[in-house]
Amino acid sequence: MHGNRKIEEIAIVKDADSQCEPRPCGACLQYIYDFTENPKIKIVMAKTEKGRILFETVKVKTIGELLPHPFRKWTKISEKRS
Ligand SMILES: [Zn+2]
Repeated sequence: MHGNRKIEEIAIVKDADSQCEPRPCGACLQYIYDFTENPKIKIVMAKTEKGRILFETVKVKTIGELLPHPFRKWTKISEKRS
C-alpha cells in the first residue's frame, strides 16, 4: 500500500477453521482510514476452505461502517479552528 492512496477495496480472507472472524482489527481499520481518509472504502470479508472462498460467508462493509468514529490527526482540528 506504500505510496498508493487510491485504494477502492480491500479483501480479507481467513480459513474457515480459524476462531477469528475475517475482519480487520481496530488498528488496521485506523491505518486504512489514515491512509485513504475515505470512509467509503469497501472491505470485503470472507472465509475460505481448502483455498476456495465460501461465498455464503462473504460480507461487504465500508470502512465508515466498521470504524464510525476514526481518530483524526490533531492538525486537522487546528486547521478547522483557524
Ligand atoms: Zn490488524
